[in-house]
Amino acid sequence: MVFKCQEDSFLRKFTSKVIKCEPTNEPLVEYGKTSQFEGYQVTLENTILFPAGGGQPHDIGRLNNTEVVQVLRKGDEALHFTKEPIEVGTVVEQEINWDRRFDHMQQHSGQHLLSAILEKEHNLPTTSWWLGLEESYVELDSTKVSEEVIKATENRCNQLIQEAIPVNVKFCKANDPDLNEAHTRGLPKDCMETIRIICIGNVDENMCCGTHVTNLSQLQTIKLTGIEPGKKGKTNLKFLVGNRVLRTFQLMLDREKALTGLLKNEPTRHEDLVQKLQKNLKIANKNLQTVLQELAQFEIERIKSSIPKPKYVIMFKKEATPEFNRAVIKGLEGEGLFLFFASEEPDKPKEGQIIIQGPEEHCNALGTKITELLKGKGAFKNGKFQGKAGDLSGMNKCKKLIEDYFNSQ
Ligand SMILES: [Zn+2]
Repeated sequence: MVFKCQEDSFLRKFTSKVIKCEPTNEPLVEYGKTSQFEGYQVTLENTILFPAGGGQPHDIGRLNNTEVVQVLRKGDEALHFTKEPIEVGTVVEQEINWDRRFDHMQQHSGQHLLSAILEKEHNLPTTSWWLGLEESYVELDSTKVSEEVIKATENRCNQLIQEAIPVNVKFCKANDPDLNEAHTRGLPKDCMETIRIICIGNVDENMCCGTHVTNLSQLQTIKLTGIEPGKKGKTNLKFLVGNRVLRTFQLMLDREKALTGLLKNEPTRHEDLVQKLQKNLKIANKNLQTVLQELAQFEIERIKSSIPKPKYVIMFKKEATPEFNRAVIKGLEGEGLFLFFASEEPDKPKEGQIIIQGPEEHCNALGTKITELLKGKGAFKNGKFQGKAGDLSGMNKCKKLIEDYFNSQ
């Protein structure tokens, strides 16, 4: 059976009668993502809602007021997935989500054009293709696809779009001699006895069950956006057609505008400015390390030369790195001091690293209480605790605890 959507791909409304309605729990597949479904599958005398096939995703729309969330083809039937049942015999008005459908038509006809040029002019046959939610690609039977080929293909496709080449659908029977001329790419395995051939002027002829534009000018433009390694021996060439080019361009403009605001300079300077920022950050980090090392030495000397000699040291500097803390602790080893050091995680200010070490009696008396207050994760090993703090907001309570403990000694 040839569905109404295949006879006239521009029909947006159509009236037909329900001939079957059965419960189903077959999952929904939306651009490759599967989700569970429980509802009904409705069959009509004919349909303008395209059932997924030939690489083109299914349409969505309405049957009267009932939403259609998926359409699948089973043999000669198109099954419309709905949440509610519709009584057999009901005459329904079908309505299609046209934005989604026209987008699929632009990508699908664009793919036929792209595959034809790649094969005819660059000897790069398409082995499969993918129409995604944001990006689509043709899978090419080669690992070598040069920048020159991509540029030349894009130019040629856009030239043919400018020439507004007509796109026609030919129908023929399975034993028709015309069939030999057409490629079999994209033809569903259990295809109906009537074969559809999509002809782009004298550029391409291809068997296909999908819905297509009637003129290449309806594609507006095609943009090849890059290659990615595909399956073994293959390359995926990514592309955008028509409204997707405009949509992507708008997103890029918005991003560029945001960057211009942040970098306070025009887009042509962005790359330069980011490179400079990265370089400066590297230098600043290096300088910070040097200063922290000097500060660590200074702290060690200050503590060692304090009179009277302290019994404990609490150190929680916001700018301190774990390296700084370890350096100070190393410098104070053998002084018999109780040490409690903490530092913040740079991107999670509530969390951090803690080190507790010193004479065993003090560690035993204070260690567990401190780690509890800071939601510490880790364990005492050889009289030393080193681990993560889950919540540094308990720091003041820890300081008070340590002060009170040593004051009562
Ligand atoms: Zn096709």
